[in-house]
Amino acid sequence: ISSTELTSEFLQRIQQLNPEYNAFITVNEELSLAQARAADQMIAAGQASPLTGIPIAQKDIFCAKGWLTTCGSKMLSNFVSPYDAGVIERFNQAGAVNIGKTNMDEFAMGSSNETSYYGPVKNPWDHAAVPGGSSGGAACAVAARLACAATGTDTGGSIRQPAALCGISGIKPTYGLVSRYGMIAFASSLDQGGPMAKSAEDLALLLNVMVGFDPRDSTSLQREAEDYARDLQKPLAGLRIGLPKEYFAAGMSNDVASAIEKALDEYRKLGAQTVEISLPNAPLAIPVYYVLAPAEASSNLSRFDGVRYGHRAESYSDLADMYRKSRAQGFGPEVKRRILIGTYVLSHGYYDAYYIKAQKLRRLIAQDFADAYRQCDIIMGPTTPTVAFNLGEKSGDPIQMYLSDIYTSAANLTGMPAMSIPVGFGDKNRPIGLHIIGNYFKEAQMLNVAHQYQ
Ligand code: GLN
Repeated sequence: ISSTELTSEFLQRIQQLNPEYNAFITVNEELSLAQARAADQMIAAGQASPLTGIPIAQKDIFCAKGWLTTCGSKMLSNFVSPYDAGVIERFNQAGAVNIGKTNMDEFAMGSSNETSYYGPVKNPWDHAAVPGGSSGGAACAVAARLACAATGTDTGGSIRQPAALCGISGIKPTYGLVSRYGMIAFASSLDQGGPMAKSAEDLALLLNVMVGFDPRDSTSLQREAEDYARDLQKPLAGLRIGLPKEYFAAGMSNDVASAIEKALDEYRKLGAQTVEISLPNAPLAIPVYYVLAPAEASSNLSRFDGVRYGHRAESYSDLADMYRKSRAQGFGPEVKRRILIGTYVLSHGYYDAYYIKAQKLRRLIAQDFADAYRQCDIIMGPTTPTVAFNLGEKSGDPIQMYLSDIYTSAANLTGMPAMSIPVGFGDKNRPIGLHIIGNYFKEAQMLNVAHQYQ
């Protein structure tokens, strides 16, 4: 099958099913098919690599030249990017096809995709359920087979939580491996792009393309290239799996607990051993995250002022009024809430009490993990405390929504790689994810561990 045929098939499926799912904000058949035809030429010329001609959905947080790039916000509802993000460039060089831009929570702030200016996304397993967020459109697109794979970004769990709730696999690599250039910034010290796909094997092929040094991102790491698929077949005998007792405590629902227990049994059968570990400061991850992420967001989002790009109010009296009205109209309630919290914790008089304190706790959380890795090779637990909740169930209660990331946000605070893989179904037949956290740069080992289960 040619890339042009494959791409046409997916475009047709999207046309048929997206009105129901709302997984894509933008589809551009002309641009996608042009890439498919170029890929077919690469293939004919013998220049194909594993992703050449493969339709991949791009989260609408990645700037892609000629594509509307909204970040799920009214603020950018008219922004056609004049340039490609580092990640998009790498996919283009590999000959992959951009099959469309996926729906997401506004500026990646959310856990259910309900904060998107473009409306919520449905969970393909149960249309009453949320797909998770913020990469909800990406997770839905992969689960509903509207794309072969997708990109996501993860600031506190936004790749892993939607992957878990939609029954697919997703990995947040070690901070600094994937370029943030052209990836619209939320909380720069936590944001990391990564792939979402059906299997660990697919994630490895995607990582091989996505990872790489980019001088335009000041936190991009310069490391020797590795093949993330190299260890997929390794046996797991002797692997020590750490189970943090803080993650196996109250809060986890029974259906999730039993699915995780079953998965761990499978790992024991594969020759791994489990050891109890402790991450005493891990329960602080959510409060720390909700000081630091809004602080960074309030600074990053100051660039949206209605002057250079994005939404500008139609009528205003002077410059300050133009800023005020443009931002009041362009941002939704969750984004405004974050800007207010962030501005508050950074303000004179509160900076030491909140921001500095959170930074210190961030350090302690990282130390917990460093200590734990003396007793185990890899850490496992649930990705989320419950299966997907219903649309509308938590959208009126920010604190309940924030708790969706109770297990995932520590990996962003420490910069460690973490992934979610599907391990069965729970209440109402909704999917459950196993969370696998690795030490820095252990992606190949994590993919091996995931692949052996799958
Ligand atoms: N749910 C978290 C938040 O709302 C994390 C989002 C993300 O990882 N982008 O901030």
